[in-house]
Amino acid sequence: MSSGQSAKCEEEGAGVGAQGLTFNEPLLFDQGSPGRRGCTLPECDVPELKPERLLPRKLLRHDIPGFPELSEVEVVRHFTRLSQWNYGVDTGFYPLGSCTMKYNPKINEEVWRLPGFSLAHPYQPESLIQGALELMYELEQFLAEVSGMDRVSLQPAAGAQGEVLGMMLIRAYLESKGSPRKRVLVPDSAHGTNPASSAICGYEVLQIKSGPNGRLDPQVVANAMDEDVAAIMVTNPNTLGLFEDQIAEIAKIVHAKGGQVYCDGANLNAIIGISRPGDTGIDVLHFNLHKTFAVPHGGGGPGAGPVGLKAHLAPFMPVPVIEKKGRRFVLNDDLPSSVGRVRAFYGNFAALVRAYAYIRSLGPSGLRRVAEVAVINANYIMSQLKDHYHLPYDTFCKHECVFSDARQLPHGVQTIDIAKRLMDYGFHPPTIYFPLIVKGAMMIEPTETESKETLDQFIDAMKRIAEEAERDPELVRSAPHKTKVSRLDEVKAARQPNLRWKGKTSGEESGS
Ligand SMILES: *Cc1c(COP(=O)(O)O)cnc(C)c1O
Repeated sequence: MSSGQSAKCEEEGAGVGAQGLTFNEPLLFDQGSPGRRGCTLPECDVPELKPERLLPRKLLRHDIPGFPELSEVEVVRHFTRLSQWNYGVDTGFYPLGSCTMKYNPKINEEVWRLPGFSLAHPYQPESLIQGALELMYELEQFLAEVSGMDRVSLQPAAGAQGEVLGMMLIRAYLESKGSPRKRVLVPDSAHGTNPASSAICGYEVLQIKSGPNGRLDPQVVANAMDEDVAAIMVTNPNTLGLFEDQIAEIAKIVHAKGGQVYCDGANLNAIIGISRPGDTGIDVLHFNLHKTFAVPHGGGGPGAGPVGLKAHLAPFMPVPVIEKKGRRFVLNDDLPSSVGRVRAFYGNFAALVRAYAYIRSLGPSGLRRVAEVAVINANYIMSQLKDHYHLPYDTFCKHECVFSDARQLPHGVQTIDIAKRLMDYGFHPPTIYFPLIVKGAMMIEPTETESKETLDQFIDAMKRIAEEAERDPELVRSAPHKTKVSRLDEVKAARQPNLRWKGKTSGEESGS
């Protein structure tokens, strides 16, 4: 880069924001030429079998409308270019709150790709998968130990599915005591999956208000608690990044009326190795291995949401459970009160191997260090930005801090504008407009894997945006300016995705 160029970047406050070699790329369907091929096969030297001899004629087609015909290099460039439009933890800082977008160490990938793991087939007999069973058995022990629970089911494929399983266990347990009860208490700061999971399990949801300090007040829980309440779902630390310091008291109140306590453990990264939910009266909780335990989020793809539970819920666990008989590991399907299977086979095994590798490579003291550094990083960002953005709950935080746009609103700049402008500076925006109890929320979770230099670049970008909002609000309102496309209709993209090929499309159309 010439000094002239670097001066220009400096002046624009480019930070790590990118410009330059990002290629335009039309749809595959708009490329290529009839007859172009990616590979050439030799002439067939055995008699050809006509498809008509294998399949009924009406199921055969002779033409695939709009099928793109391209050379190998065109295909490789197409997908490589598309991959370069993407943003992930391997390309930059990803401060998405409540998501723990930490860097995923490559050793975990290495380990799960060992042929004994990656090529194992779920129908292999127990005798040939002893290593895989041992790994899952040990992972259950590790997760039970860090959470203070008695047993763990590794089956659920995501946190949300873990919640559903947790509520199924609570329902089955209460039913065995005489009545499943009617209601579940969910705080107003909860993730949307909490009320959804309760509702799927047949419960009414009663929302309870957080106190003025952003935490649950035991008195409020006591007032809402009666013998119709099946459970309370508490996220700890909660989605404001605050530790629910009254959790033990709250658990006592709920237990006294025969209710159960569910902990949404999505934010475990802040307390791992320091505080164990099981020691504070929690009956059941889920882990998000794709958050706390460095398993990739995979673009919404395979994750894992194991569920930890206390002994009284163990008879209801999903089958099969993994047990140790002498020196052998066996799958036990014989659990008469089990809620059944919640996922095919054993859950997302590849995610389990990655989490196992992560735990083994860090060890107990390393896991504790994760939480310590995650908390320091979040408090550092909070302390550096609180003179520039409104901080509704001004107190030490755990793994994340939540600001609002209250100071920028008078200039006509809102949270969405700030988030979009951050992209010009090369950062993925934080979680926005969540939790719902903070109007115009910006929820920032740095995780432990970011260096001070990266945090400083981010802080610098946020400060510049706060300054721009006062000096040149239109610049922020019309952001992003440096991305391939500017503001998209996100609602339309989600509700009416246009994924079909409809003949030639113009490049302009897809870019608006
Ligand atoms: C991420 C998250 C969930 C849902 O977990 P998934 O693995 O995305 O299904 C639930 N609660 C909280 C607080 C979360 O952050």
